[in-house]
Amino acid sequence: MAKSLLDKVWQTHTVTELPSGQTQLFVGLHLVHEVTSPQAFQMLRELKLPVLFPERTVATVDHIIPTHTAARPFDDEQAETMMSEIERNCRDFGITLYDRASGHQGIVHVIGPEMGITQPGLTIACGDSHTSTHGAFGAIAFGIGTSQVRDLLASQCLAIEKPKLRRIEVNGALPAGVYAKDVILHIIRTLGVKGGVGYAYEYAGTTLDGMTMEERMTVCNMSIEGGARCGYVNPDQTTFDYLRGRPLAPQGADFEPAVAWWKSMASEPGAAYDALTRIDAASLTPVITWGINPGQAIGVGERIPAAGEFSDDEREVVEDAYAYMDWKPGTPIAGTKIDVAFIGSCTNGRISDLREAARVAKLGTVKASVKAIVVPGSQDVARQAEAEGLPDVFRAAGFEWRLPGCSMCLAMNPDKLSGRQICASSSNRNFKGRQGSPSGRTLLMSPAMVAAAAIEGVVTDVRELLGRA
Ligand code: SF4
Repeated sequence: MAKSLLDKVWQTHTVTELPSGQTQLFVGLHLVHEVTSPQAFQMLRELKLPVLFPERTVATVDHIIPTHTAARPFDDEQAETMMSEIERNCRDFGITLYDRASGHQGIVHVIGPEMGITQPGLTIACGDSHTSTHGAFGAIAFGIGTSQVRDLLASQCLAIEKPKLRRIEVNGALPAGVYAKDVILHIIRTLGVKGGVGYAYEYAGTTLDGMTMEERMTVCNMSIEGGARCGYVNPDQTTFDYLRGRPLAPQGADFEPAVAWWKSMASEPGAAYDALTRIDAASLTPVITWGINPGQAIGVGERIPAAGEFSDDEREVVEDAYAYMDWKPGTPIAGTKIDVAFIGSCTNGRISDLREAARVAKLGTVKASVKAIVVPGSQDVARQAEAEGLPDVFRAAGFEWRLPGCSMCLAMNPDKLSGRQICASSSNRNFKGRQGSPSGRTLLMSPAMVAAAAIEGVVTDVRELLGRA
């Protein structure tokens, strides 16, 4: 019988079926960061257990790290403690840590792919929801909690249920000014934030086929925002070309045998799916969230929807969103004044994102009332951007150029909104208080749209700005 990539990866990594109905799944790669790991390491110490496969465990620092200075100790004592803890834990347990001194520090979901450790056919886990990003390579990658981080450190296995599989086919060419971020926001808007519960999403179709790896990562990154356990794209030549020559990818004569195995893991024609969704890429416009979850999204030319447009079970959260965001239904979203513009995160902090944003930044200067920051996803992204002169473009337009980290995506560091500020953000979550102020408001959009909003001071259709160039 024809098999999907999910079937094959699951089968390859199954240790045993547990009486609970779950699978004991071997995890090929464990990614670790400073926030969800300290208690797990502490539990290991108490149990006098080693890390079973330190060579399959890789750590970085991203959430708490300040982006305005590299000075140590950090001003925030709690952040400094977390930093010291991960340094000690990696040293004591023999784990590679990509800290700032390594030259490869960055957001965990940016550095895995760029170092070449994220590979097709792997199972990957990390104590972070957006681990789904790594599915862009044809890996089954998912977020886990702190007690599972402990289990994984000690046994390299997890007890987990196999999800069902929904194939999402996106076909056609994306119009100019419409990006991978718009595709995934549209998918979440269409299927809902709970639409993926119990599922893995397999993204396919000619639009995905034509995307770069960075665009595929943006799509897979937000699978979790649609409720899916993970999301993936079948590996193809684009995947192999991206991996060739990466520091930790198979090298030399080992590369072609690896490609042969990676190819064999792709879904076969005729594989069974539990559900299917089709989307026409040509019909998409830039998408923006208006509410308090990523499914509350509309096209840039649309108005805030009326409560009557939603089902009864959505009504409560819609009313909550109107009140929190201070919206009146029927208001056009274009023209909404913004206070802060944030370009970065594991969704959109890669070099292609910064290039697109810089293309827009060249068209004007940031409005005096707007604070605009650009935060590269990693030191490697920063180096590449510097080689291309992008920081100069941003600075000339009035953006601040920062050091790599999660920054204002979740504000566990000094980059925070204050009061009722509205932030145009290229990140992935618009939950209440997500960006550091309990009453701050987030509008999710593509990096090019954030740059356009920074220049105009209001939500703007980036296609109009690019059309004027
Ligand atoms: S950028 Fe945001 S979503 Fe991504 S790992 Fe950091 S905090 Fe999590």
